[in-house]
Amino acid sequence: MSSVAGEVARFCGDVLAHAPRPDHDTVYDDRHPLWQKFAAAGLANWWVPERFGGAGASTVDGVRIAAEIAYHDPGFAFTSFLPVLASRMLELYGGPGLAQEHLRGLVSSGGFCAALGSEAVAGSELTNTATTFRRTGDVLVLNGEKAFSTNLAFARFCLVLARADDDPREFAMILVPAGAEGFEAGPRWRMSGLLGTGTHPATFTDCVVPAANELAGSGIRILEVGLNASRIMMAAMAVGMIRRLRDLHMAYAADKRLGGRPLTRNAIFAARLGQLEMELETVKSQCHRAALDYDELHRAPDAGAAFLAGGVLKSAVVAKMHAGQTGWRIASTASESFGGLGYTEQHDVQWLLRSMRHISIVEGGDDVLRDLIYGRYVKRPSRRG
Ligand SMILES: Cc1cc2nc3c(=O)[nH]c(=O)nc-3n(C[C@H](O)[C@H](O)[C@H](O)COP(=O)(O)OP(=O)(O)OC[C@H]3O[C@@H](n4cnc5c(N)ncnc54)[C@H](O)[C@@H]3O)c2cc1C
Repeated sequence: MSSVAGEVARFCGDVLAHAPRPDHDTVYDDRHPLWQKFAAAGLANWWVPERFGGAGASTVDGVRIAAEIAYHDPGFAFTSFLPVLASRMLELYGGPGLAQEHLRGLVSSGGFCAALGSEAVAGSELTNTATTFRRTGDVLVLNGEKAFSTNLAFARFCLVLARADDDPREFAMILVPAGAEGFEAGPRWRMSGLLGTGTHPATFTDCVVPAANELAGSGIRILEVGLNASRIMMAAMAVGMIRRLRDLHMAYAADKRLGGRPLTRNAIFAARLGQLEMELETVKSQCHRAALDYDELHRAPDAGAAFLAGGVLKSAVVAKMHAGQTGWRIASTASESFGGLGYTEQHDVQWLLRSMRHISIVEGGDDVLRDLIYGRYVKRPSRRG
């Protein structure tokens, strides 16, 4: 285990395990005491490479870290790893000056960055993106509306997917710093799970940024690459939440008696927990496999080109789909295990159930990803498994 993963495990045991469960009003922003402790321990943005001042933890370690945090608090986990989406795009495709300035600032502040792809009308059909940019002299001018962006309201910068106003086939990924004129984050969405996260819509009205803030390459291809890392982390959250569900079962069964015997000696209970453990292992294995694939590409001398050549990483998509489906099935079964108490908001199982649901929805719902796998990995015989 790397020193960062060890430090996160210590933070989770010493701090997160004793923190109150978040509610609908909780926002893990940079002023929240839990986030301040996490950042003060040097744990924020743990994946940023050392050349930008970061800890440079691998994705294999990131899987352990995301799972460990999600065991205690899925919303804190989602908040803490989602900046990997924007920061990795900047690291791989931003000009050297742009990447140094903003990634160093991110690390030294222990703060956040955000990504804006989703739009209400375009949905997952990114080629229908309606937010536009216009090149004028040495600046870019952005206009449009985005639907969802996590950590946006307190991010130091965000990366925005936009279409050229004079060419519907050209897409760019553009860095917009916090406070840029014409950029406004809307009110926080009230989510059913992932309590503590702050996800917002945004509006761009003649928002001007330097031309050098455009990343190199097609915005849609860059976003596809960016999603590889965050999809693996999202899958890893299921590992933590499934472990927590298992441990809740065992704690409940320690006191519960059925037919005069402890629940732990009931055959149906044993079968349910045996099944859970088996499925947990499959989710863990797939996350590990995806993280190994990812780290190999990230270590390449020209990682940006290596990722672009591969595009959507099959093992990352498989990890997210498998984790989302398996986690949801386990959480749903688990919600029956605690009787009526398990249907109350007091019980952690409801919190975990609603948080688990996002894995099959965010960063591409399963219908979208099935279509993607079919198009990229089934139609072409050379790419079949
Ligand atoms: C908590 C949370 C955090 C988020 N954070 C961010 C963020 O930081 N940045 C960001 O950009 N976005 C973010 N999002 C948006 C999220 O990634 C999208 O909502 C998600 O990818 C689904 O896309 P959509 O909402 O456009 O719905 P769509 O993909 O349009 O789906 C709507 C319906 O159309 C169906 N559908 C769509 N495509 C196909 C297809 N090819 N085949 C069959 N059926 C299809 C779907 O199955 C579904 O039934 C966040 C969302 C949530 C809930």
